[in-house]
Amino acid sequence: MPYKDKEKQKEYHNSEKGKEVKQKYQQSEKGKETRQKYRQTEEGKKSERIADWKRMGVKSDDYNELYEYYINCWECENCGVELVEGIYYNNKRVLDHCHKTGKFRNVLCSYCNLLRGE
Ligand SMILES: [Zn+2]
Repeated sequence: MPYKDKEKQKEYHNSEKGKEVKQKYQQSEKGKETRQKYRQTEEGKKSERIADWKRMGVKSDDYNELYEYYINCWECENCGVELVEGIYYNNKRVLDHCHKTGKFRNVLCSYCNLLRGE
């Protein structure tokens, strides 16, 4: 869209018309494809992972920093097994958090995370 004025563009995106256009786009084939592609990128994976944590109730002052820590952790902090990202194995990388406070505790394999429970 050839908007030169950033403010105008923002205004448009927040307007009813803008929302409608955006929704239509998201439901279109092209929109779905774009979103799917975005999910394959590092940026997309990151934002999806962080959204997941928020849904699970993980609380953090800095989700970016937490993600950096998480994604660079290659061994379970409990049993030392090598971690993999995003696959449904016992050694899937999991962010362990306290279910009461939402505070991050460790990066664990999903097996240890299950054992630890609450
Ligand atoms: Zn483990």
